[in-house]
Amino acid sequence: FNFSPCTATLRALMALRLFNTLTRQVDLFEPLNHGGTVGMYCCGPTVHDFAHIGNFRTFVFADLVRRVLQFRGHEVNHVMNITDVEDKIIRRVNETGIPLPEYTAKYESAFLQDLKTLNCLEPHHRPRATEHIPEMLDLIGRLIEKEIAYHAEDGSVYFSIQNYQSCGCNYGRLLNLNFDAMRQGERVSNDEYEKDSVADFALWKARVPEDGDVHWSSPWGDGRPGWHIECSAMSMKLLGNTFDLHLGGEDLIFPHHEDEIAQSEGATGQPFVKHWLHGAHLLVEGKKMSKSLGNFYTLADLLEQGHEGRAIRQLMMSTHYRETFNFTLDGLAGAKTALARIDECIAKLREVADDEPVEPQAEPIEKFTAALDDDLNISSAWATVFDWVRDTNRRIDEGLSSAEATAALATWQKFDTVLAVGKEESTVPADIQAKVEQRTAARDAKDFATADALRDELHAAGWTIEDTPNGPRAKPL
Ligand code: AMP
Ligand code: ZN
Repeated sequence: FNFSPCTATLRALMALRLFNTLTRQVDLFEPLNHGGTVGMYCCGPTVHDFAHIGNFRTFVFADLVRRVLQFRGHEVNHVMNITDVEDKIIRRVNETGIPLPEYTAKYESAFLQDLKTLNCLEPHHRPRATEHIPEMLDLIGRLIEKEIAYHAEDGSVYFSIQNYQSCGCNYGRLLNLNFDAMRQGERVSNDEYEKDSVADFALWKARVPEDGDVHWSSPWGDGRPGWHIECSAMSMKLLGNTFDLHLGGEDLIFPHHEDEIAQSEGATGQPFVKHWLHGAHLLVEGKKMSKSLGNFYTLADLLEQGHEGRAIRQLMMSTHYRETFNFTLDGLAGAKTALARIDECIAKLREVADDEPVEPQAEPIEKFTAALDDDLNISSAWATVFDWVRDTNRRIDEGLSSAEATAALATWQKFDTVLAVGKEESTVPADIQAKVEQRTAARDAKDFATADALRDELHAAGWTIEDTPNGPRAKPL
């Protein structure tokens, strides 16, 4: 008998596998262009307001996918659009009277700042919808030419699901749809709609008085693009007609992503995306976030309460991306404690380690890799990290050599290329750092006299304290 697994099984076990919404199963991730760059598109924020922590769960998930791909040796071209024109934005622009570019710029820059605070890598491209109107018009023109889109009496251009289907294409790839329930001849012009109202959807919306100054000219008259065509146009411009990965939150499966597939494949006749990934939603204290329930948080709300960006990231990454995640303030306190354990272990390693370049420890890295390869099994990856911390602490207590400490540190650095929660090595002298921490503790305890005295001592020694999203830091004066 030969009990050893065949080469193909072994290869599959040693490579990244991801759930694909399109095939409804966990697929081996094989890049379209072997040895080349992986094209990855993540639907970006609609900049109508400050993003909430639910949105950031999805963006941290996208960052995890990007980092795991890089960890597995792929070069990634990461595109994240900025949706800076759609129904909600136009409504707000109307209500406030602020011109659209000025209105959206504020929320776009807050969003990018928040991404940094959460240690998300900057996407390679951040196309704005308003800067890609010609590409959208071109795509709509091609769909009209193929008679998959039509110019309706209301002046708008719609996508014809019936004509698309009669070209042999299939609408309803990501989600099973009941076409019998579909009302013939019905159309939907809203950017968002439910699956029981599946209907021809708007690609170009004719100008109406409520649009105010937000309109562009087109061969079909003045108007503005529908939300779905924006992502088809921007993704294909930057990544080609067919690319590897498309990501978003689960609410985008229908209609947004279904419509993106129909528009793109209808226009090009080529497959659009090989692998679709969707992250489950975030709840707060077990409930859907809403302003009226008082459980609605932006990132700024949590930072104001003194929480660190990296602890929020750690918490958001503690649950598998396909499971609904329940965000709680207790959970956040737990994340802080977990990171403190890691920080303490790393600080001790740094005291013993030297600068000699060494390889990380093979076994923990193999376990960590195997966990992530298994459809990003993050709980198992964290378990490996915390087992490693316990084991490393024991070895530190026993007295490990400087070469061993250096290898352990290299192991952590490798973990942290994916996790991105590590504290940067401080260049602040230990006595100054201690004073900063004592001052923070005094301030937290509302002992302002001690806090002020410590601040004065720091000033006298040539240091100032800066409040950063990751806590107070000492800075030379
Ligand atoms: P939006 O700015 O509304 O276009 O949303 C940006 C991203 O956040 C999309 O990928 C959404 O699917 C995602 N999203 C919205 N609400 C939540 C939530 N509660 N939990 C996780 N992701 C969400
Ligand atoms: Zn999109």
